[in-house]
Formats: sequence, C-alpha cells, structure tokens
Amino acid sequence: MFTNKNGKKMLRIDAYRFTINKRVRNKYWWRCSSHGSRGCRATVITLDDLVYKIANEHNH
Ligand SMILES: [Zn+2]
Repeated sequence: MFTNKNGKKMLRIDAYRFTINKRVRNKYWWRCSSHGSRGCRATVITLDDLVYKIANEHNH
C-alpha cells in the first residue's frame, strides 16, 4: 500500500493499481483504477495491510 502524490491511498499488485472502494476499520475493499474507465472488475480485500482476498482478473 502506498500513498500517491494526491495523498490518496493506493495498492499496487503487479502492474495494476487499485484505489479504495470501501473501508471498515482495518479492512479495505479495493478496485482496479481502471474500474471507472474500462469497467474492470478486479477487486482486492486487505486486512491489516495484508491481502485477504483477491480477484485479480483484469480486462485490460
Ligand atoms: Zn484492472
């Protein structure tokens, strides 16, 4: 997990970047940064900064 220049938290897995979709305490739901532009459905859930669940299937 890292913070981009706009101060927004991001996650990077392989060449893909994910942005936060939802957060409950230390659990984060991420979606691919191409979700909006390309409708990519890849999602990741992290818990305590560790990958908890991943659906890393991208359409790009
Ligand atoms: Zn994607």
